[in-house]
Amino acid sequence: MSLSEFGLIERFFCQQTLKNSTTQLGIGDDCALLNIPSGFELAITTDTMVENVHFFAGTDPEQLGHKLLAVNLSDLAAMGAKPISVTLALTLPKVNEDWLAAFAKGFLNLAQHYGVELIGGDTTSGPLTLTVQALGLVPQGKALKRSSAKVGDFIYVTGHLGDAGLGLKITQGYACNHPDEALKHFNCPNPQIETGLVLIGVANACIDISDGLAADLGHILQKSQVGACLDWEALPLSSAVQTYIIDTDDWLLPLNAGDDYELCFTVSPEKAAQLSVLCHKIGIIEAQSGLRLHKSGTLSPLEMTGFEHFN
Ligand code: ADP
Ligand code: MG
Repeated sequence: MSLSEFGLIERFFCQQTLKNSTTQLGIGDDCALLNIPSGFELAITTDTMVENVHFFAGTDPEQLGHKLLAVNLSDLAAMGAKPISVTLALTLPKVNEDWLAAFAKGFLNLAQHYGVELIGGDTTSGPLTLTVQALGLVPQGKALKRSSAKVGDFIYVTGHLGDAGLGLKITQGYACNHPDEALKHFNCPNPQIETGLVLIGVANACIDISDGLAADLGHILQKSQVGACLDWEALPLSSAVQTYIIDTDDWLLPLNAGDDYELCFTVSPEKAAQLSVLCHKIGIIEAQSGLRLHKSGTLSPLEMTGFEHFN
């Protein structure tokens, strides 16, 4: 006999031993109840992943559970919030216990790593669709917003650009000599939680790179009503991405490919010395609107496009 809805929740999603002091009431009632410590604001975000839109049918369920949570925690990281709890809405075509066990493992292992408690959710039948709502705490008035970049700020990114995009190309058939790192970035991104926390009080504006650097930096520029100039030579590229670019001439990959989940942030020159995170300075915020790229001695406009649904 296959598991009932409640049996499934009990068996796969009530196993967490972790309990947070912010949780007054977790899974099992109509709502969860949270205690919000004074001096903090609640940061809330939600992201959905749909089969055949955000992931291929047959994707490893453990990696999928990890990635679903990671992309949500990445939004908290981008605001400088400390994750506390999540809800999980699952729409499943059928109950496949092996799939659920692996999915829950990937999801709950990452939750455990960041001290995040699963406090509720919803379970329904239908086309495979996975939604998380993530909640975090940020000191009152200190959240890292997209709207606070200032002219003269330096622009930084964490990690490398385009590894996840290369991972997607490899999944689609591109032959790469050293595919492991790129595939890991694509399938199992790590949210930059610690970096976000350290950037509070240092960075002016911050965003996580989910749709590509140009598009996501574009959001900072638009919200802050400024422009920017990037230096091609300064972009941090893994050797696999460098080889890919030499091989294909597709140099836009690290600028336009999504799914990296690194942070892009701006810091005033006065505070740059206070930066204590591993990151690369890639450009500068300017008064002139739009995004420009300095490459091979020429300055050219760069479209602020990336992945978009309905296009
Ligand atoms: P309701 O009918 O009030 O929506 P449900 O019967 O859907 O409640 O869920 C029962 C309890 O189990 C609730 O506390 C809900 O938050 C939790 N829950 C349901 N699905 C999940 C899930 N996938 N992961 C974690 N908790 C879940
Ligand atoms: Mg329900």
